[in-house]
Amino acid sequence: MSLDDHAEDLASDLGVDKEEVKADLENLVEYSVPVDEAKQSLRRKYGDGSSSSEPSQVDLADVSTEDSNVTVTAKVLTVGKRSIRYQGNEQTIHEGELADETGKISYTAWEDFGLSAGDTITAGNAGVREWEGDPELNLGESTNVAFEDDIDVPYPVGGDADLADLEPGDRGINLDVQVVEVETKTIDGRDGETEIKSGVLADESARLPFTDWEARPEVAEGATMRLEDVYVREFRGVPSVNLSEFTAVAPLDRELAISDTGTRMTVRDAVETGGAYDVEVVGSIVAVRDGSGLIERCPECGRVIQNGQCRSHGDVDGQDDLRVKAIVDDGTGTVTAVLDAERTEEVYGGDVEDAKAQARDAMDKEVVADSIRERVVGHEYRVRGNLSVDDYGANLEVTEFERSEDPPADRADALLAEVAE
Ligand SMILES: [Zn+2]
Repeated sequence: MSLDDHAEDLASDLGVDKEEVKADLENLVEYSVPVDEAKQSLRRKYGDGSSSSEPSQVDLADVSTEDSNVTVTAKVLTVGKRSIRYQGNEQTIHEGELADETGKISYTAWEDFGLSAGDTITAGNAGVREWEGDPELNLGESTNVAFEDDIDVPYPVGGDADLADLEPGDRGINLDVQVVEVETKTIDGRDGETEIKSGVLADESARLPFTDWEARPEVAEGATMRLEDVYVREFRGVPSVNLSEFTAVAPLDRELAISDTGTRMTVRDAVETGGAYDVEVVGSIVAVRDGSGLIERCPECGRVIQNGQCRSHGDVDGQDDLRVKAIVDDGTGTVTAVLDAERTEEVYGGDVEDAKAQARDAMDKEVVADSIRERVVGHEYRVRGNLSVDDYGANLEVTEFERSEDPPADRADALLAEVAE
């Protein structure tokens, strides 16, 4: 298509003089503006009804944090409702994920557009903001939302999920769960003292901590229920389920086959979750790290100190304690298992007084860690606990630490049987 043809097109679309449009177009193209972009800008200049006032239509995969505003056509995967305090006012927002065939993206709707999971919409002039490095869409006052014919997307619609799949930031999620632990607490909320419930939920896939900000009576130990519209936050490095005032809670008419063991995972999969509650790995202890055995803690802050010096509190009278930091390797990756004093006593075979006596006799504290090394390094353990992952690595705060009960020979047989199938 020649520039002349483009000019003719535009002129008839816009109902303006062709020569005038052509001069503008030539001017822009001379400045290396691509023809399509030049036409868009002339449409805006000559006022082409509604479509020109909106940013161009993009695929979700192409939305970037560099964009300020975009127009997208997408299917609503999830809708979560939440009340937040924004600039001093209570405001109800809707949030979740949108998808088209190229990808999906999180959104926050600052007005009630009446969105439901499964709707296909065109969001004209949606704002783009960055959230933890990824683009997110803001549907606000200046966004036009139009409902469209259904499109197919390669993602599940609706928020049904298993606990094992949850990640911090998920919203509008539905779960079938059992309450395995719960306690009521009084906290200082934004409207004064308020009661909340917190504890642990389980389903067939995993266990996760939860908070019910409304302290519902039906959220009781042993209760099985369907939760609709919960959101997920990070709590001490693991995903935590939050029940808001908008969460619907209904009794479940079926039994859940929840297990009372941790979720068995490979170290690699566990670390890839970015933090997991109550997981179990089986691997060999390849080393016991420095800072294990007989250690000293600051009496003020509880942090481990060196030579009676706390980084925050300076010269302090250290308190003796026992700890193990053991590196577990299962062939897929490594994680540091951190054992508290009680579990360290079991591994060491003595308490803090025994450790002090051993250190005095040898005139060296390190002998305690050495004794632990002799007992655990090179052996296979089943390690259960809560995993947190940060810039310094992956730590498993241990709740159970047991020599693996499967003798290597059995495992080899099982592996051979699997291969033979
Ligand atoms: Zn301190």
